Amino acid sequence: MADRLYFVIPCYNEEEVLPETSRRLQEKMHALMKAGTIKENSRVVFVNDGSKDRTWEIIEELHQKDPLFSGVNLSRNRGHQNALLAGLMTVKDHCDMAISMDADLQDDINACDEMLEKYYDGCDIVYGVRSARKTDTAFKRNTAQGYYKLMNRLGANMVYNHADYRLMSRRALQGLSEFGEVNLFLRGIVPMIGYPSDVVYYERAERFAGESKYPLKKMISFAIEGITSLSTAPLSIITDCGIVIFLFSIVMLIYSIVRYYMGKTVAGWTFLSVSIWLIGGMILLAIGVLGEYIGKIYLETKSRPRYIIEQYLDADDGFQTKKERRPGAPEKS
Ligand code: UDP
Ligand code: MG
Repeated sequence: MADRLYFVIPCYNEEEVLPETSRRLQEKMHALMKAGTIKENSRVVFVNDGSKDRTWEIIEELHQKDPLFSGVNLSRNRGHQNALLAGLMTVKDHCDMAISMDADLQDDINACDEMLEKYYDGCDIVYGVRSARKTDTAFKRNTAQGYYKLMNRLGANMVYNHADYRLMSRRALQGLSEFGEVNLFLRGIVPMIGYPSDVVYYERAERFAGESKYPLKKMISFAIEGITSLSTAPLSIITDCGIVIFLFSIVMLIYSIVRYYMGKTVAGWTFLSVSIWLIGGMILLAIGVLGEYIGKIYLETKSRPRYIIEQYLDADDGFQTKKERRPGAPEKS
């Protein structure tokens, strides 16, 4: 008796890759079904993250042609992490395990064979880890790897070189749903769920088509989001800086008293002005970091929904809330 698998794929303006991605997934899923590795009613769920192109139309077509494909349409763009979460939370009560993957075919679909194997061996979470980053630019590779190291230093327990290609069992998804935070950083939260886990290595390929939806600006804000939503280390770094500067200023005080008695008080003007700038800068930085956290608290206390689903296409239990004349509406005159 095999278990039911759901593939969850967030898509933002992916009209160029979707036909190919769906073709390959279809092939893969049918092969897995034939081999008896997964149940016949397993599915591929595309989450449309408020795309501005034909992505949702393509998903609708796919769903009409083959019940293997389901679709979740978000009411607007909410970002990769929220789109993924929306997909996972929508399927968590229907599947035995879910695999999340990007739409652009950068993750090797065939790595899911090994993931499933580990799942049947009793793992609840199987992380896909990139064995090499040959296809990324040197800049992206270095910044990304430096970032993983920094995160671990700051106390966030992240799996090295793991993006969002992973398998999660039903109870791991249930665990994930207990985390109510609005500032969501899945890569950092999933390891907190616990349960037996393992990793699978694969080679990351080039984006199949289209361009990265993560330009540098988004990457930086994603990185800051990760740090401030998982770690309070920057706050203690500020305190440490404050202590060091305070000690330093005592030394300076003693120094200036000594200079005063030596009758050389006017000298040192340059140093003074430099210090004012330096300390002013540090204070602003400190306030900025505090502001980041206060902003997070502000958002958390509002507990806004992380996503709103407009339409869910599924052969078993879909729903839709699209703009349409209501069935109970009076006749138009
Ligand atoms: N994505 C999304 N919402 C966004 C940005 C990206 O759902 O606002 C999806 C995108 O369609 C893709 C995945 O997230 O499936 C990863 O994005 P991308 O491949 O552009 O990132 P990269 O691999 O360059 O880091
Ligand atoms: Mg990509």
